[in-house]
Amino acid sequence: MKYEEICAVCPGICKPACPVYKVLPRQPVSPQGIIRSIALFRKGHVEASELYNIFHCVACGYCIKACPIDNPVIDIILEARGRYGYEELEVKQPEVISIDGNRYVWIMSGECESIYLDNLRRLIPRLSESLTIIDASGIYRTYYLGNEGSYEIYKDRLVQLLDEVNADWIFTDSIELTSMILKVADHDIYLDIELLYHHIKDKNIALKENIREPIIYFSSCNPLANDKAKGYTLKILDMLNVEYIDGREYTHMNCCGAGGIYRYTNNNISEKMAKHLYNELSNIGGSILFDNWKCRDHLDRYINVSHLFEIMDLVI
Ligand code: SF4
Ligand code: SF4
Repeated sequence: MKYEEICAVCPGICKPACPVYKVLPRQPVSPQGIIRSIALFRKGHVEASELYNIFHCVACGYCIKACPIDNPVIDIILEARGRYGYEELEVKQPEVISIDGNRYVWIMSGECESIYLDNLRRLIPRLSESLTIIDASGIYRTYYLGNEGSYEIYKDRLVQLLDEVNADWIFTDSIELTSMILKVADHDIYLDIELLYHHIKDKNIALKENIREPIIYFSSCNPLANDKAKGYTLKILDMLNVEYIDGREYTHMNCCGAGGIYRYTNNNISEKMAKHLYNELSNIGGSILFDNWKCRDHLDRYINVSHLFEIMDLVI
């Protein structure tokens, strides 16, 4: 049985799990609705112009976790985006901001945020003079919006760039980019908080004094990604003997709506998702901690949240 045939008889088990459907409870934007409209289009029952709902997905993966047959919803949607949408999309080439021949390379998943880099520079003084940054947001853009063939082009370009810089150590702020690079390139890649973890172990870094406890930890979403990020954040909090509570137990919103570049392409929905999460988290009291810089940045427009880099006393 094909996925669309199963979706047609399934009561829509995935729907309550979808964070977009939570703020926009309409059948066409539910995972089931999107899958069905792609199936109808393939059978010639609807026009391509009616496939607008394929751009409503934030690619979080919660529907796949909920689906009894592990229907690969994200792959189906991204493939459809590549085929039927945004042909005119202007895709951005990965850009090397600076290369100075050093062995450390930092790959940003999106537009470089100066505050993130400031924290990074405080964290690793020896990198501050020799940090090389590759803006890989073009890869993100292509991955999320789809653009037939161009993901392949970006993959090749990324591999070529990594070879050019010949780095011994490659870091990123994103678990998704980590997974992507591990698939396409013959390089190890490390997460920012993984580095922070080893640094704290070596230097005995403490928590800043003005941090309000308890710390409410909201882990990076994307249940399909490996849980490297979550693992390292919890290891760090344990190492510092910090009391924390799992923010996810206090909210029904499993995604803040930042989702790659979703906050730029679907700003209204993304904002609703952030406000929904904000309403539930802001009632708890304490310092709210995110381990994903993009989520932190997205939600910080509504409620004061921090990233691990910001709550550590990194003066060395
Ligand atoms: S994606 Fe899975 S859970 Fe959702 S409607 Fe289809 S079969 Fe059901
Ligand atoms: S990947 Fe997330 S946003 Fe997309 S349809 Fe599934 S649950 Fe909804």
